[in-house]
Amino acid sequence: MRIANLAGRLVLVTPEGAVDVQEAGGHRFPSDPQAVYERWDEFRDWAAGADLSGARPYAAADLGAPAPSPRQLLAVGLNYRDHADEAGYTAPEGMPPVFTKFASSISGPVTEVALPEGGRTDWEVELVVVIGRPARAVAEADAWDHVAGLTVGQDLSERVLQMSGPAPQFGLAKSFPGFSPMGPVLVTPDEFDDPDALELTCSVNGEQVQHGSTRQLIFSVPALIAKLSRVLPLLPGDVLYTGTPAGVGLGRTPQRWLRPGDELVSTVQGIGELRQTMTGVR
Ligand code: ZN
Repeated sequence: MRIANLAGRLVLVTPEGAVDVQEAGGHRFPSDPQAVYERWDEFRDWAAGADLSGARPYAAADLGAPAPSPRQLLAVGLNYRDHADEAGYTAPEGMPPVFTKFASSISGPVTEVALPEGGRTDWEVELVVVIGRPARAVAEADAWDHVAGLTVGQDLSERVLQMSGPAPQFGLAKSFPGFSPMGPVLVTPDEFDDPDALELTCSVNGEQVQHGSTRQLIFSVPALIAKLSRVLPLLPGDVLYTGTPAGVGLGRTPQRWLRPGDELVSTVQGIGELRQTMTGVR
């Protein structure tokens, strides 16, 4: 199953287009895309038998984030060995670094992003997990049962602020407006041959700069859910950015940062793409 946030309304996505969930369900479910995760099992059961004949074409530019207002947005750093190497860190053991991207930075999949003044803004394509069932001290073997679906995320990062001060400023430096685009759709785990092995790519102006597979994650999606849910409950609709592979601007020689006019395209196999156009300093 694929769902999306079309102009603020929850839709089911078919090859023909979008079906409005509130209309198709006779108002059984609200139109708010974030609210559906509270009733995820009930929604999945209904959607499996829903009449999808009224699907209408839509424009990707009208999509919002599939989980636009989570209670918690967790993000994992240094979760690919090649990225930890290029960033000059040793790969984590036990628990990876975990931070938050503040929710006001969330946007849909096709946007313009204003580059922060005096900054060095970098790209990080990531697989993003949305939680569908409350998870507390979940075993790794059961972790996928707590996932509503997967989407594409960009963890845009302003490296000057990130590196300033006595400790890294991950949360703030990754939370400028528009720095957390997600979408275009949320795909349920059963749609993938192997949800633990998805290719992801990122390109700048058509030049591929990142290419990896979630098979290379140091902490897999189930491992992250198991570890994190031992510390705090993961709640329905929560968002988890799982980390980025090598190829970010920070790790290049010479280093490279996004400039006004640059077009950033981020993809995850079987889900779709994000498209961000950088605009002048605000
Ligand atoms: Zn990241």
